[in-house]
Amino acid sequence: MIKGLTLLSTRIKQKVNSALLTERCVSCLAPTTDHGLCAACRSDLPANTPACPRCALPLPDSATGLCCGDCLRDPPPFARARIPWRYEFPVDRMIGRYKYQGQRKYGRPLMAGLARHLEEALAREPDCRPEALIAAPMHPARRRQRGFNQAQDLAEYLGRALDLPVLRGRVHRTRRTPTQRGLDRAGRLANLNDSLTLTGEPPASVAIVDDVVTTGATARALASLLKSAGTQRVELWALARTPAPVSPRPHPAVSPPAEQWPDWR
Ligand SMILES: [Zn+2]
Ligand SMILES: [Zn+2]
Repeated sequence: MIKGLTLLSTRIKQKVNSALLTERCVSCLAPTTDHGLCAACRSDLPANTPACPRCALPLPDSATGLCCGDCLRDPPPFARARIPWRYEFPVDRMIGRYKYQGQRKYGRPLMAGLARHLEEALAREPDCRPEALIAAPMHPARRRQRGFNQAQDLAEYLGRALDLPVLRGRVHRTRRTPTQRGLDRAGRLANLNDSLTLTGEPPASVAIVDDVVTTGATARALASLLKSAGTQRVELWALARTPAPVSPRPHPAVSPPAEQWPDWR
């Protein structure tokens, strides 16, 4: 009897352990051990190449190795942007679930992929390694609304993965800016004007961390602020970059219709 109970409890333990150890891909539910995304789904993510080497704006194949028109006309205050994916399906859906629904399991595969991408880049270019990371700031009211600042969450993750210090509580939005969504770059810069303040002296080289870069206005404003306070070199690190808007036609759809989304749980 006791022997039977011991055997049963061992079997239950084995089942519980194997359930805990078998992680499922967030997209196709195949077993995976790679931060929640299987190798096939990871290779399907929309790589941001070719892209402007300065601001990571997605460019057509014919523009490989060239800077975008914006950076030629008005070079940004950051030296370069490292952004491995385009804000297209399924990256847009994954970030949306992470950011707006607080489902961290959808952000984790992207965070791990970005850390790997940066690790490889910094091994090739060790002089570009920043002294510290700083997250793109969010107004406290919006942070309370959402429950967390996804850029800070990402900066903390990258800080641990790359062994870099994270500057906390040094940049503040002094007034609540209306949401940046739906504004063009000029609108966003005006929206951000005078809304950021920095406390203390920043290090000589800093990487700004954000989840999605749309027009780059937030990064430009923060990089300018850091440089005016003494930082000499700024990089911009993010998960995804949106394509340039096509005008005067409406912005192209970046995702297939809802019925084609995988059944993400
Ligand atoms: Zn998969
Ligand atoms: Zn550019």
